[in-house]
Amino acid sequence: MRPPVGVLALQGDVREHVAALTAAGADPRPVRSVADLSGLAGIVLPGGESTTIGKLLVRFDLFEPLRDAIAGGLAAYGTCAGMILLAVGVTEGDQPLLGVLDVVVRRNAFGRQNESFEIDLDVAGLDSPFHAVFIRAPWVAKAGREVEVMAAVDDHPVMVRQGHVLASAFHPELTDDSRLHRLFVEMTR
Ligand code: GLN
Repeated sequence: MRPPVGVLALQGDVREHVAALTAAGADPRPVRSVADLSGLAGIVLPGGESTTIGKLLVRFDLFEPLRDAIAGGLAAYGTCAGMILLAVGVTEGDQPLLGVLDVVVRRNAFGRQNESFEIDLDVAGLDSPFHAVFIRAPWVAKAGREVEVMAAVDDHPVMVRQGHVLASAFHPELTDDSRLHRLFVEMTR
């Protein structure tokens, strides 16, 4: 059976995640309202602008239901802005965060020189490197004890997992490699 996996579709690169989830064996569904949350096995929070997505979550009355669903066990995968939204804190500023992943992230952490870059990244559990696309990406500045670091760039964690919550600072949906979406789909089963 193809597990039903939601893609939060308020802003950001939704279409690419839908395609990658289909390739990974899931039944992707856009999520725009509380009703769309019911029956899901997992949810992807895409990249985009975390402050905007956070505000839209509040405006669409999705913020608390989504937080409660993930806190209650709904598998979640956040990429880039999605990783920021899952976090418990950001190093600077104030914005709505779901607080379901015990990390503090630094937004736009790689600086102006490195706004966007691509590297072949070693990821825990994969037998060959993953071609990772970073776009104004965050990194994990502080991770709680329960958080497993799955990949790092210059000692800064850029992919983490805490139980049923997965997050990457880069964009796996922008390449043809669906291994990380497959890993997430496995987490939803
Ligand atoms: N810089 C964005 C933010 O802070 C994230 C960028 C992305 O998702 N590609 O929300």
